[in-house]
Amino acid sequence: AAKNARAGVRVYQAEDDRNTPRRLALMADLRAAVEQNRLEVHYQPKVDPASGRVIGAEALSRWFRADGTVPPDEFILLAERSGLIRTLTRNVLDTALAACAGWRRDGHHDMTVAVNLSPQTIADRGLAEDVRVALLRHGLPAAALTLEITETGLMADPTNSLATLETLRGIGVKLSVDDFGTGHSSLGRLSELPIQEVKIDKGFVRDLTTTAGRRAVTDATLHLGRALDLLVVAEGVETREEFDYLRAHGCGAVQGYYVSRPLPAAAFTAWLADRPAR
Ligand code: C2E
Ligand code: CA
Ligand code: CA
Ligand code: CA
Repeated sequence: AAKNARAGVRVYQAEDDRNTPRRLALMADLRAAVEQNRLEVHYQPKVDPASGRVIGAEALSRWFRADGTVPPDEFILLAERSGLIRTLTRNVLDTALAACAGWRRDGHHDMTVAVNLSPQTIADRGLAEDVRVALLRHGLPAAALTLEITETGLMADPTNSLATLETLRGIGVKLSVDDFGTGHSSLGRLSELPIQEVKIDKGFVRDLTTTAGRRAVTDATLHLGRALDLLVVAEGVETREEFDYLRAHGCGAVQGYYVSRPLPAAAFTAWLADRPAR
C-alpha cells in the first residue's frame, strides 16, 4: 500500500461524472475517513528567497487508502459534492493550527500556516466563527493563519464571498488569492478585495526562465503586488533558475519542490528544526 501511495494510483477519475457503484463506494469511504478524522495533513514551506527564512507552511490534505492514494483534486471535489467539505475543512484547520502552535513553541515564533478553502466554505456563514474558535483553542493570534481561496472560487459568488472575507479580515486572518492568473478577475475587482497575498499559479512558474509568455504573467503579478502592497508567493518552484529569477525580481516568497516537497507533520517539524528561527 505504501508503494502504491507514493505512486499516486488513481482510483477515481474526476472527469467521470456518473454516480457509478465505484464512486458511491468511494464516497462512503471518504465520509467515514472524514468523520473519523483519518485524512492526513502534509506541510510545504513558503520561504523568503532573499533571506532564506521560512515564513509559513501550506497545509495540504492527503487521503491514504489500503489500495492507493486518491489525489486531493479528486477527493476535494467529492467532498464538495457530498457535503463533507465543511467537516474536512474544520479538521484541517484544527490540525494545522495545532501544528503551527507547536512550531511557535519550538522557537519559530513568527510561523504561519495556510489552509485552503473551497468556494462552498466561503459562502458558509459559520466559517468565520469556526475560525475564531479554532484560533482561541490553540492560543494563536489571527495573523498566524492564512486562508487560500482560488481566484475562480472568489469570482464564483462575489457578493457572498465578499461578506465572509470582510468578516475574516475583521478577525485579523490573512487572505490569499490562490492560482492567480488562471481566473478572470479584473485588477479593479482585485484591488477591492481585503486580501494580503496572491499566489502565482505553478503553470506560470513552470519554464519561467525559458518561456516569454509565462514570464510576462509572473512579472505583471510582481508589479501588481508592489502596487497593491500584497505578498506575492510563487508556487511550483522546481529549479534553481526559477528560484534565482524570482529572488532577483523581488518575489516575496517561493514554494515548491526546489525548497521542499509537502512533508508529513513530523518530517516537516524536523525539516524546520534545521532552519534558523529568524
Ligand atoms: P493548490 O492549493 O494549488 O496546492 C498546490 C499544489 O501544488 C499541491 O498539490 C502541491 O503538492 C503541488 N506542488 C507543490 N510544489 C510543487 C512543485 O514544485 N511542482 C509541482 N508540479 N507541484 C507542486 P496537491 O497537494 O496535490 O493538492 C492539489 C489541490 O488540492 C490544491 O492545489 C488544492 O486546491 C486542493 N487541496 C489540497 N488540500 C486541500 C484542503 O485541505 N482543502 C481544500 N479545499 N483543498 C485542498
Ligand atoms: Ca493553495
Ligand atoms: Ca495554487
Ligand atoms: Ca491548484
